[in-house]
Amino acid sequence: MIPRYRTKYCHCKLQAVIRVTNSDPNKGKLYYSCPNGVCDIWDWCKPINTVLSVPTQRRFFH
Ligand SMILES: [Zn+2]
Repeated sequence: MIPRYRTKYCHCKLQAVIRVTNSDPNKGKLYYSCPNGVCDIWDWCKPINTVLSVPTQRRFFH
């Protein structure tokens, strides 16, 4: 099965590309990156279908 990833958008309002780190200590991990390389969006990319089921948590904005 091909892992699915959440679609994420960078600060340019473009769809973030998924890249693989080449540097230790996180070598091989996936992360989001700006397709233009101009903004500093950065976040780990986790496959949706391997997300562990967690108890429903509701966050309230104060
Ligand atoms: Zn961007």
